[in-house]
Amino acid sequence: MAQYIIRLDDLCHNSNLEKWERFFNLFDQYDIKPIIAAIPANKDPKLMSCGPYNPNYWELLRRLQSLGYMIGMHGYDHLYVSKNSGIFKFNKRSEFAGLPISIQSKKLAAAARMFDDEKINVKIFIAPAHSLDYCTLRALKSVTRIKIISEGLLPFPYKRRGFNWLPVQQNEAELQGDGVWTFNYHPETCTDKAFLQLKKFIADNHKDFIPLNTLHYRPYQLEQMIAEKYLIYKRWFSELIKSTWQGVNASVYYKS
Ligand SMILES: [Zn+2]
Repeated sequence: MAQYIIRLDDLCHNSNLEKWERFFNLFDQYDIKPIIAAIPANKDPKLMSCGPYNPNYWELLRRLQSLGYMIGMHGYDHLYVSKNSGIFKFNKRSEFAGLPISIQSKKLAAAARMFDDEKINVKIFIAPAHSLDYCTLRALKSVTRIKIISEGLLPFPYKRRGFNWLPVQQNEAELQGDGVWTFNYHPETCTDKAFLQLKKFIADNHKDFIPLNTLHYRPYQLEQMIAEKYLIYKRWFSELIKSTWQGVNASVYYKS
């Protein structure tokens, strides 16, 4: 059977809370416990312009935590300082991938300290732009207590390199076959149409949303590695075709 998890990205000091509250109200109505990708010290200008500075940001995270939401560490400042697409080869931008382990460790330790000081128990790491590398894993191991990584493409959670991996396969809710499927929403940019579609999906399927503590993580062996590499390169190739096609269209437009 299909089981579902939902992840909301980019909660920070300047979030537009009205856009977030509609998600929170929906989850609370159906007793769904999402993952919240929270940024401790956001400096991303795009996210800074979403709303006014919220002096009660940490209080909000503590409230969500007390409701059973899983607060995840979404990097340190969400600034893209490298063009490295990391292990999953998705976006050519990263806060972490490609940087020396000493710098990655410093950022992760600073983030972990902020969550600790604010009494937020972060158990899960969510790399900005889905981009992390093997140094990120080593740094996470040495300077944080994090054991779960919300990333990957396989249709089930698995154990790899000393972490539990919870794959994130979909941007929007959609009926799936056997497996554990994470839907990844960005409340700041989610359209009304996409939100209404999620609302309907949850009304119809809320019984299939599961809390994280019930997950079973499978072994990651050669077969799983090959399957995931296939999915990574399939996505990489389709993104390449898409961007080449957009480039061709743009040049045709400019010529005419
Ligand atoms: Zn993000």
